[in-house]
Amino acid sequence: MNIHEYQGKELLRSYGVAVPNGQVAFTPEEAVEAAKNLNSDVKVVKAQIHAGGRGKAGGVKLAKSLDEVRTYAEELLGKTLVTHQTGPEGKEIKRLLIEEGSDIKKEFYVGLVLDRATSRIVLMGSEEGGTEIEEVAAKTPEKIFKETIDPAIGLMPFQARRLAFNINIPKELINKAAKFMTGLYQVFVEKDCSVAEINPLVTTGDGQVMALDAKLNFDDNALYRHKDIMELRDLSEEDEKEIEASKYDLSYIALDGNIGCMVNGAGLAMSTMDIIKHYGGDPANFLDVGGGATTEKVTEAFKIILSDKNVKGIFVNIFGGIMKCDVIANGVVEASKQVGLNLPLVVRLEGTNVELGKQILEDSGLNITAAESMADGAEKIVSLVK
Ligand code: ADP
Ligand code: MG
Repeated sequence: MNIHEYQGKELLRSYGVAVPNGQVAFTPEEAVEAAKNLNSDVKVVKAQIHAGGRGKAGGVKLAKSLDEVRTYAEELLGKTLVTHQTGPEGKEIKRLLIEEGSDIKKEFYVGLVLDRATSRIVLMGSEEGGTEIEEVAAKTPEKIFKETIDPAIGLMPFQARRLAFNINIPKELINKAAKFMTGLYQVFVEKDCSVAEINPLVTTGDGQVMALDAKLNFDDNALYRHKDIMELRDLSEEDEKEIEASKYDLSYIALDGNIGCMVNGAGLAMSTMDIIKHYGGDPANFLDVGGGATTEKVTEAFKIILSDKNVKGIFVNIFGGIMKCDVIANGVVEASKQVGLNLPLVVRLEGTNVELGKQILEDSGLNITAAESMADGAEKIVSLVK
C-alpha cells in the first residue's frame, strides 16, 4: 500500500526523522492558511498524488508570497498531472502539501528496500539525488552504495556513517545523516515497509540534513497489525477494479491492453500474459483467482474483467489442480448471465473435472471458443479481438 508524501513525512517526523514543516491542504483557502504557519520566505506547493516525477511535470511550485501560494494552489487542485510514473492518463490532484522551502545545498538519495537475493533489508545511498535512482543505476552504478543489514542487530551506527561518508555527505554532517538513516530504518522495520525512499535527502545552508521527499510503501500482508497505517489509505488513488478485486482476495492488476485474462496461479497468469504478447496481443490485466476459489469469487473476477471498458475479448486459461474446472465454468456462466456477455470468449480448461467443466460451458448456450492448448487459446483470442 502506498501513502502520500505528506503522510509519510508526518510518520517520519514522529520518529524524529528531519523533514520540513508543512501541512496538507484540500482547498486554496486551506493552502493559504497552512502557508501562514510556516517560517520561511519561500513556501513550496506540492501536488500530492501516488506517483513520483512531480517536479519535472510542474507539480512542485515555489511560492514567494501568500498570493502566489493561492495562485499555485488554484492552478494545481483539480488538475490532472501527467508524470513519467502516472501513465499517459495522469492523476488528478486533490490534495497539496504546503511546506517550508529549504535552502538546498546538495541533493542526495537514500532508500531502504528488502533485497530478496540476500533476504535482508538494504540501505542504499547515492550523491546523485533528485534524479531517478534507476537512471543512476543504469549509467553510473559505481555511484550507488549499499549496506546490508543484519536483522538480529539492525542498522549499526558505523554502517550508517560509512554510507554517509561514501556518498560524500560533508564531514560535519555525517552524524546528523547517520541519525536520519537510523530513524528511517526504525520506521521501516516497525511499520513493515517494503520501500522507504528519500529522494532527495538534502543538506541545507543552515547545516541540516532532511527529507524533501518521502515515498513509503507498506507490505499489504502486514497491514492487519498497523491500523494507523491502514487509515492513511487513499482509495481515490487506486484503480477501482483493483479495490473491488481486493475485497474478494483476488490478485488483480489492471494493465493497458484489451484482452481480459482469467487464470489460476500466478505463474500461469504470467505465462498467459507472455503468450498473448507472443501472438501480438495485449493483456488487459493480470488476474490470479487463486487455488481454492469459489463460484462466487470467480463470478466477481469475471465481472471485474468485464467492467474494464478496454476489454475486447476474454481468455480463460485454467489448469485445474486444487481449483476445479467445473467451479470456473459455473463462475463464467453465472457472471455472463449477470452482466450480459457479448464479447469473444476463449476458454482453455485442463485438469480436475475438466469434462464436467466443458459440459457446463456447452450447456450454457454461451458463445464460447474452445481452445486445445494455451498457445491455441492465445492465438484465437488475439485474432478474435483484432
Ligand atoms: P518528485 O520526486 O515527485 O519530483 P520531490 O518532492 O522530489 O518530487 O520534489 C522535486 C524537487 O523539488 C526536489 O528534488 C527539490 O529540488 C524540490 N523541492 C521539493 N520540496 C522542496 C522544499 N521543501 N524546498 C525546496 N525545494 C524543494
Ligand atoms: Mg522525489
